[in-house]
Amino acid sequence: MVLADSHAHLLDDFFEKDLEEVVERAKNIGVEYINNCLELTDNEEIEEGLELTKKYDSIFLSAGVHPFNAKDWNNGLEELLSIFPKDKLIAIGEIGIDPTYDVHLEIQKETFRKQIQIAKRKGLPIIIHCRYSFEEVYQILKEESFPLQGVLHTFSGTWKEAERFLDIGFYISFSGVLTYSKKAKEVALKTPFDRILIETDSPYLAPIPYKGQRNEPSYILRTVEELSRLKGSPIEKTAEITTENFISLFLKEQ
Ligand SMILES: [Zn+2]
Repeated sequence: MVLADSHAHLLDDFFEKDLEEVVERAKNIGVEYINNCLELTDNEEIEEGLELTKKYDSIFLSAGVHPFNAKDWNNGLEELLSIFPKDKLIAIGEIGIDPTYDVHLEIQKETFRKQIQIAKRKGLPIIIHCRYSFEEVYQILKEESFPLQGVLHTFSGTWKEAERFLDIGFYISFSGVLTYSKKAKEVALKTPFDRILIETDSPYLAPIPYKGQRNEPSYILRTVEELSRLKGSPIEKTAEITTENFISLFLKEQ
């Protein structure tokens, strides 16, 4: 069984002591792809992220200014992306809008927009962080025009909200939240299988029975199990489909 964790933060302090074992445990259950999301405003994290990809074939990178850091955006950041090996930088993200952060909404929108434009210039998909702002995110995508691919990570909206993004070709990603959120289960049930990605968002959002603890890529299995249950699909098949989806969104042109 081959699995893909489409969203993790392996350079978080929570992994400082045992990252090697964490990656090893994931590998042992078949996680052959991990997208490690980097914060583009954090030079140290970028450097460490690039090092990781030299050490592990399974680790890929995405980079972006998280909405939480939207006010740190500057035009020089785009240049930083040119130091990434082409076969390792698979997306711009996570980027988006989150009104629960103490960052002015207009600043978040502007930083989001600038990065969509970068993604278009680079021909890369985007990874969207969106909470309570599906309308705003949708409008910006529309204004920036659609021939753009991407995923809404740890989707937290309703089916109605999901449908609009599916209609414009986006993928929907489910994390450990799927193991306990009725809303997420409903959306996963209705989302076509060929548009679903899975992720851990490690070290956050651990699935049941690890809820509240540090999350790690090997726990993706719990989300695969839950998705299999919802879709009435064997676990191996769920793994195969979600990994194929990961490859077609992020690794297609390699
Ligand atoms: Zn994240």
